Amino acid sequence: GCLDDLVRTHIALHPDFPNPGVLFRDITPLLADAAALRAVIRHWTTLLPEGIEYVVGTEARGFVLGAPLAYELGAGFVPARKAGKLPGTPAGLSYDLEYGSARIEIPEHALPAGGRTLLVDDLLATGGTAAATLELTRRFDVELLGASFLIELAGLGGREKLPGVPLTAVWTLD
Ligand code: IMP
Repeated sequence: GCLDDLVRTHIALHPDFPNPGVLFRDITPLLADAAALRAVIRHWTTLLPEGIEYVVGTEARGFVLGAPLAYELGAGFVPARKAGKLPGTPAGLSYDLEYGSARIEIPEHALPAGGRTLLVDDLLATGGTAAATLELTRRFDVELLGASFLIELAGLGGREKLPGVPLTAVWTLD
């Protein structure tokens, strides 16, 4: 997108975090810059499909970005949380990570059948997180309109884990 430079210059790079060999992209400089944050959220909405009713954001940076996107779109926001944080009997899904496993949960009744839904997160890497969020979201029988990310690390093949899902990113890196 045309905001590539704005995103790139507001991201801090941290080699070997959280594990050796990983180059972590920290978006907190972007979040802290009022003008950059507003420009990115406003531009991002122009990349999205029409008619979104629900934005599902993944804990934690998918909350920070997904909520203002939902607000701008006039949509609702639904959190996909790490396990154990939600009251009641949330819908849950466990999935494999490179080391170990993780579990995400969405509040029960949070999404109505047929609700036109977009998945949002800060970054698409291997696609494991997004694929799990997609599978859990589909259990609600929503109409999935797509998935969208601030940053797509295209070289890691995450896109292939979301076959058939219209996928957009503000900034795609090779
Ligand atoms: P994936 O499951 O391998 O696609 O990793 C994506 C998930 O890990 C997202 O929820 C991201 O927030 C997080 N993540 C992975 N790498 C980074 C990074 O470099 N910066 C910020 N978040 C990251």
